[in-house]
Amino acid sequence: MESVLQSLLEVARNPAPAVTAWKQGTNGKVIGWLPIYVPEELIHAAGALPVSLWGGSTEIARADAHLQGFACSVVRSVLEYGLKGTYNMVDGFIFPSTCDHIQNTSDIWAAVFPGRPKFDLVYPANRQSKASAAYLERLFTGLQEWLAALTGSAASEGRLRESIGIYNHYRALSAELAALRSSRPECMSDLEFSLITKSALFLEKTEYNRRLAELLPWLARRTVRPRPKVRLVATGIMAEPQGILQVIDELGGAVVADDLALGARILRAPADETLPPLSALVDRHLRLGPCSTLYDCRKERGSHLLGLAARHNADGVLFLSMKFCEAEDFDYPVLKAELEAAGLPLLLLEVEQQMSALGQVRTRLQAFLEILAQGAGR
Ligand code: SF4
Repeated sequence: MESVLQSLLEVARNPAPAVTAWKQGTNGKVIGWLPIYVPEELIHAAGALPVSLWGGSTEIARADAHLQGFACSVVRSVLEYGLKGTYNMVDGFIFPSTCDHIQNTSDIWAAVFPGRPKFDLVYPANRQSKASAAYLERLFTGLQEWLAALTGSAASEGRLRESIGIYNHYRALSAELAALRSSRPECMSDLEFSLITKSALFLEKTEYNRRLAELLPWLARRTVRPRPKVRLVATGIMAEPQGILQVIDELGGAVVADDLALGARILRAPADETLPPLSALVDRHLRLGPCSTLYDCRKERGSHLLGLAARHNADGVLFLSMKFCEAEDFDYPVLKAELEAAGLPLLLLEVEQQMSALGQVRTRLQAFLEILAQGAGR
């Protein structure tokens, strides 16, 4: 089982060999999608491999010639990887209308890579509108047609049903992994959890499901660290740079639940398999949330975090604020007020993927965890 675990960690650290091997083995197309929400099932049903492009810790050299310095590190590193040729094996790109930064990058991408197929997935701003479902159905049909033209294979209703089942199984297994992290955090480090979750973004999901299903019983019996003194809920776009997770681990803490975009958010809401397949994907999108990038006048993120902390017996919340991410910045004051009113400690840490020095982060985390440990009495 150790080799299965290591294979997943390796895919997350260096996805290119796994993606290239899939492409060579199947002669299929690779479709890259940017954060946060894309109905991957449509790509899977078209016989292509969906891979998720969330940037990385690469040094930004060429992208700054095209993007302003105050663009977030996700879009800057995605463009950098594109310019460096890291995505040369990717046949088509999907840009969801997540935020201004991704929408602007989509336009820049078209100018920089005019010959590379791209689809703009422009979501309805207001998901509470009655027109949203019909609009989404047309949008997803357009995506299906684009995929069919690119792959040369139109997904039948049966194939889409099958893909929806595979993705629901993926979400169920991921929920088991998340439950294990909370009930026995000593069985894997926070970094291992994060990398296992991330590896799913580059593997064909039947294959990922097989490996994760094998791994879960073994992980449940494994012990790699003492029981944590402090239990945290992490929220934000992603827990990167991943050195932050190692610092938490070293300080005797553990993330026992999360509300990260590159984490629990994309794994929420199984598709309803009793609905016609396209309607099931539309319905799923309408049920996603709470998320800073999805308009929701009810502002439920604060209560969602309070619920997570209560269910997972967490001592505090860590808000990993991606530098220059306006969507997340707008949510922060609202949820800070709600968490303070409920007496749940909160630490805001500003992060970006290119951060290398973690000294300040360590100092602030240490102080936060010491205060929480006194209260937790573990
Ligand atoms: S981190 Fe924020 S600003 Fe950057 S791509 Fe994601 S949602 Fe957009």
